[in-house]
Amino acid sequence: MTTHPQPAPFTTDDYAARLAHATKDAVRAGMDGAIVGPGPDLEWLTGYRPTAITERLTVLILLPGDVPTLVVPVLERPDAEGAVGAPALRIVDWADGSDPYQTAAAQLPASGRFAISDATWSVHLLGLRHALPETTYHALGSNLPMLRAVKDTGELDRLAMAAAAADETYTMIVHTRFAGRRESEVAAHLARLLRKHGHEQVDFTVVGSGPNGANPHHEAGDRVIEPGDAVVLDFGGLMHGYGSDTTRTVSVGEPPSEVREVHAIVRAAQQAAFEAVRPGVPCAEIDRAARTVIAEAGYADRFIHRTGHGIGVTTHEPPYIVEGEDQPLVPGMCFSIEPGIYLPQRFGVRIEDIVTVTETGGRRLNNTDRALLLVE
Ligand code: ZN
Ligand code: ZN
Ligand code: ZN
Repeated sequence: MTTHPQPAPFTTDDYAARLAHATKDAVRAGMDGAIVGPGPDLEWLTGYRPTAITERLTVLILLPGDVPTLVVPVLERPDAEGAVGAPALRIVDWADGSDPYQTAAAQLPASGRFAISDATWSVHLLGLRHALPETTYHALGSNLPMLRAVKDTGELDRLAMAAAAADETYTMIVHTRFAGRRESEVAAHLARLLRKHGHEQVDFTVVGSGPNGANPHHEAGDRVIEPGDAVVLDFGGLMHGYGSDTTRTVSVGEPPSEVREVHAIVRAAQQAAFEAVRPGVPCAEIDRAARTVIAEAGYADRFIHRTGHGIGVTTHEPPYIVEGEDQPLVPGMCFSIEPGIYLPQRFGVRIEDIVTVTETGGRRLNNTDRALLLVE
């Protein structure tokens, strides 16, 4: 429990490759560069996460043919210099009492179109636009949606470790007693197990028992779990900076036959979507594969969300496995496959695995039993 394998650390070269990749993608999207504030994109590009995200301007500037430049408050310069990716950057600082937007503007052309990271505070975007009235800003998330979608080996290792920890959590929770416990107690137990297995952050612990299972994002509450309940367990967080996210639905004792039937349909839908994964297939087709199974069983209107979402340094990111997403799958992409059926006031069933695309098909990172397990 205490000794988990550690991933090989990311290197300055890894970050240099990501910085070059982002600059190239920005140009390909018709931009003159990219601007990245604190958040998941900055962390992915540089390994730098400011200790607090504040009104003080921190911003990474990517321009084709130029060294990536990180503008930071002078008091945070030592922290920024300590980031693994820092040797690939030029660091420029500004001091309290000066105008940080002028410091940033001095690094930018006077006019142009820039992709700006979604998590950048609007006050900073407005400050930049005021300093450079001839520049325009465009959402990085919609213009470079696949920037972080294809994972490298080090990222795949981390995602696999996070998934294995989530699997251990599930294996342990099904051996605990459910009947008579409140949902919130089971949720707290899931969070403890995730941490025990190496997660540094727990993002969600859905415990949807009986009728609460019909709400896909149900917050675990005071309801006492009863014999005969179906219970949706959906939990995850971050381990070594990368996300986990898995769902299983269990039954407290012998389930009503309808729960068994619905569970079998959802399991078949999840399997069909998994089998549809291979390079070149559009994301929408994976969604359709799951949806068709559920629709043919008569539950089309009870599958009320997309089939999945990408996962990496965040637990929800592109590629989205949803109707209308034409993006073809590429080896190294990682995303959830999580169909569900929700019967209001009665129960819900969802099964979710993280899957990665290989040259020949899909590979599941979550490998616990997908059968309807009976718990006590
Ligand atoms: Zn462990
Ligand atoms: Zn989930
Ligand atoms: Zn999910």
